[in-house]
Amino acid sequence: SDQPVAILVPGRIHPRVLERLKETFEIVAVPMGPPHDIDPGLRDRIRGVAISGVLDNGWIDRLPNLEIVSNFGVGYDGVDTAKALQHDIIVTHTPDVLNDEVADTTIALLLNTLREYPRAENYLREGRWKSEGPYPLTPLSLRGRHVGILGLGRIGIEIARRLEPFKVRIGYHTRTRRDGLPYTYYPSLKAMAEEVDTLISIVPGTAATHKIFTSEIFAALGPNGVFINVGRGTSVDEEALAEALRSRTIAAAGLDVFYDEPNVPQALLDLPNVSLLPHVASASVPTRNAMADLVVDNLIGWFREKKVITPVPETPVKA
Ligand code: NDP
Repeated sequence: SDQPVAILVPGRIHPRVLERLKETFEIVAVPMGPPHDIDPGLRDRIRGVAISGVLDNGWIDRLPNLEIVSNFGVGYDGVDTAKALQHDIIVTHTPDVLNDEVADTTIALLLNTLREYPRAENYLREGRWKSEGPYPLTPLSLRGRHVGILGLGRIGIEIARRLEPFKVRIGYHTRTRRDGLPYTYYPSLKAMAEEVDTLISIVPGTAATHKIFTSEIFAALGPNGVFINVGRGTSVDEEALAEALRSRTIAAAGLDVFYDEPNVPQALLDLPNVSLLPHVASASVPTRNAMADLVVDNLIGWFREKKVITPVPETPVKA
């Protein structure tokens, strides 16, 4: 038929995605969450999904002609790739275009956590510099630190490169050791936590990374230890983290991601030795525009010439 391909968009997505999709496709906007009934004529024209967040598997069952799910974000833990594979559906994501932005944010969060810059700014704004004198000296510093990075992929390597001019020691753990790098490799997260005093997590949210940051890891990191998480909140046992911070088992934490966003545990909000960001690592206008373009260009590429730019490894594209 000459009717346009329809793209399902559950929940909210970057406005540029919608603007650009409109030029080529019909958009079917639905609420985030489980599927509802749609007219079969329209349903059968839905051949793609654009998603920022969690795609309910019910949609995959309900859309007989679905071919591709284009995920906004490099992390695609909101899309069940095993389910997609069973249905011969390609999943794409937005790698690389956000590496620099996320790595920049990671360094900022690390410094905020150590040197309390957001708190110091609030102190000035509250007039306390004038009334009480200089902001107290920060007990923590980046000087002399030994940083261990969990995950040395596209973003992890950019974090490591940025850390070099800060003159810290750098190590990493991944399941597969990377050759030709000037960083110490640790065979496990536990072994790394024992050796370093600063842990940065930039691993995806998968079954293998679920709640791997335990009280045991925080104990191994130790009382001068600092934990930074820009990967996924699902990697952390947040109760164990709050307790480790409260008891000073570790010194401080900086978090951009949380287990159940946007719910941040009160125990973390109440602690003085935590720096918190609302999942903003890639959240600048230029970087989010580039991500939006990649979401759309994957869909356009697929429907014009059966080519996608950035498929995830779990759903390879057959020739
Ligand atoms: P990559 O796939 O390029 O890198 C992932 C790295 O993690 C690899 O080095 C991989 O190595 C390692 N890894 C994966 N699983 C494990 C495991 N079980 N144990 C140890 N290491 C593991 O991904 P990116 O660098 O592009 O992105 C990483 C993640 O960062 C994203 O998936 C996303 O969740 C998160 N992210 C968060 C953002 C934010 O706004 N806070 C923004 C962008 C990304 P190996 O496979 O050898 O173990």
